[in-house]
Amino acid sequence: MSAKVFLITPPFTQLNTPYPATAYLKGFLNTKGISSFQADLGIEVTLALFSKKGLEELFAFIKGNAQELSENAQRILALADDYILTIDAVINFLQGHNPTLAHLICKRNYLPEASRFAQHDDLNWAFGNMGIQDKAKHLATMYLEDLSDIIMECVDPHFGFSRYAERLGRSANSFDELYDSLLQEYTYIDQITINLLKERMEMLQPQMVALSVPFPGNLYASFRCAQWIKQHYPAVKVVMGGGFANTELRSLSDARVFEFYDFITLDDGEAPIENLLQYIDGNKTVEELKRTFLLQDSKVTYINNQACTDYKQGQVGTPDYSDFWLDRYVSAIEVANPMHSLWSDGRWNKLTMAHGCYWGKCTFCDISLDYIARYEPLTAQILCDRMEQIIAQTGETGFHFVDEAAPPALMRELALEIIRRKLVVSWWTNIRFEKSFTRDLCMLLRASGCIAVSGGLEVASDRLLQLIQKGITVAQVARVNKHFTEAGIMVHAYLMYGFPTQTAQETIDSMEMVRQMFQAGILQSAFWHQFAMTAHSPVGLEPAKFGVTKQTEAIGSFANNDIVHVDTAADHDSFGYGLKKSLHNYMHAACFDHPLHKWFDFKVPKTTVAPDYIINALNEDEYAGMKPNAKVIYLGKPPKLETFIKSKKGNQWEVASLTFQGKTETLEIKTDKEQGAWLAAMLEKLSINNIKAYTLQEVKADYEAAGLEDFELFWDNKPVNGLYKFGLLRL
Ligand code: SF4
Repeated sequence: MSAKVFLITPPFTQLNTPYPATAYLKGFLNTKGISSFQADLGIEVTLALFSKKGLEELFAFIKGNAQELSENAQRILALADDYILTIDAVINFLQGHNPTLAHLICKRNYLPEASRFAQHDDLNWAFGNMGIQDKAKHLATMYLEDLSDIIMECVDPHFGFSRYAERLGRSANSFDELYDSLLQEYTYIDQITINLLKERMEMLQPQMVALSVPFPGNLYASFRCAQWIKQHYPAVKVVMGGGFANTELRSLSDARVFEFYDFITLDDGEAPIENLLQYIDGNKTVEELKRTFLLQDSKVTYINNQACTDYKQGQVGTPDYSDFWLDRYVSAIEVANPMHSLWSDGRWNKLTMAHGCYWGKCTFCDISLDYIARYEPLTAQILCDRMEQIIAQTGETGFHFVDEAAPPALMRELALEIIRRKLVVSWWTNIRFEKSFTRDLCMLLRASGCIAVSGGLEVASDRLLQLIQKGITVAQVARVNKHFTEAGIMVHAYLMYGFPTQTAQETIDSMEMVRQMFQAGILQSAFWHQFAMTAHSPVGLEPAKFGVTKQTEAIGSFANNDIVHVDTAADHDSFGYGLKKSLHNYMHAACFDHPLHKWFDFKVPKTTVAPDYIINALNEDEYAGMKPNAKVIYLGKPPKLETFIKSKKGNQWEVASLTFQGKTETLEIKTDKEQGAWLAAMLEKLSINNIKAYTLQEVKADYEAAGLEDFELFWDNKPVNGLYKFGLLRL
């Protein structure tokens, strides 16, 4: 088998699912008839290492290298045979192939246990209501983490499950340290990576190798791969692209980088790669390259042919997941955080609803860069076409839409299209917690298979949310979260502390808001991040406007994005531990009554937030009245209509009874005979399967045309206003 282009994700990204960048490019190259092959070297290295043979070699290597070992490493080494004996079964289990092993794992005398198990003093508490499969996955994850600890201690300090040598890639203003590491002998992990790369190169004999580097934790390994290719296949062109290059390498000037790479491209890869291939084939001049760095006359040069435009999202083809080892990904479970569990557990097909962010205003975000700034949504039809193709290819029906912030109107259209096509899928995505997520929209999303959303609550303070230009308020987020939660969609919030000018008071108040949201049951998962200033955000571009000063300028010759800054408003670092510890407890519905100051070992101000702030905000959630243009749809089954005679004090009249069968409950409502007959007929017209969509105004006109009176009284009161639970929605 040969391929013109070899697309590589270098070690390591996620273990449970492939990173989608190369699948996007492969899908695009398919549309051009260009042959390609893709490999996720991360999962391949992991599986080579965590196998019977891999561990035998690993332990032999450690034993052969006389060195002083920690007590933990000594214990793991003493239990080496147990690890060797169990590893294939554990990996097989985490790949979803042998679920019954869960029982054995949960007995706690099957897997060897080292320090990761000891760190969890109360595992039963941490497990909460987890089922046996999840418990076993988590225990198996800790077992792998123990092994990762001994690898880091004895074999390769750079090792980490979803990253490798991340420190070398993180804000490396200068290339010096990375360059020095690349001149050293191969590490243990390098050797495994290179062996796999060698095999693939021999098989494929490509003309071009394109390495996607999404994160700092893939950078070093990508250079190692590029270095080996340059040494052994000097005629093959090597190119880097991906999120790391897009954000960090925009002002690259260090010529040594091109001892490893021939080209580095920025932003969307489709047009740049196509131009490069034509250039390599002699069909384009160097001036025609798009967003590409290369070395010309020993100088790093950036060429961007403006005449060449990017492909529209509808033209780039369906991501192609072939070549990946789809049935061999490993589902690990991180117990602390429900959203992180979703992230690391299970195989998710990745897609985006739109390129860029429809909001594009947040002042901490890279809004000046293409991946945020250029907003271009797909249509619901194209998205569903792609979903169907990917399901046919991968056999998986779970989708993670990796949007920066999925647009609510498109989410609605997508949900309707999924339901119309009767696709059985589950999906989750990032959103902005904005007002348009009404009760009924959330019900619709749930009906289409949406299981979770994550969004930035950032600093839960209205002053700072305004400074961030997030376009939301804390009360609004609370109400939106209630809609999601009541619809059965899990909500995860990204929380931030240390935004410029944030005071200690505001940090404590923000923590109190978060506490109240968990206590009210409208938030299930969250994570605190400390604010980081990046070069391409409004704060990084104009720090004085936000009351802070830069300590470092991002002007190195290599990676440039993170900027160290000085903020005199508070000592933000000191809050990290208490915020995270309290959150961990709130996520387990514990310690809601623990006074906030007790989470910190230094004096902090008392909160100024009223203890019922969030509850009051939720109580203000008046259901939006009658918007005449709102579309009305009915997702449920036709109700059974019966009429019967009611009599009271000698009077008799006819009454209609409508019985609705929901998936988990039955509802019977009674109305006047005429109103009941009209409602049953109307629900048929409102069915999602009909081509005509009705507005509320049209529903009212239909009601009045039937000679009935007082539409609002009928429609917006019990029992009809409770039918949203059975799929009568206003969108
Ligand atoms: S932070 Fe999110 S919502 Fe705000 S501009 Fe960036 S991507 Fe958009």
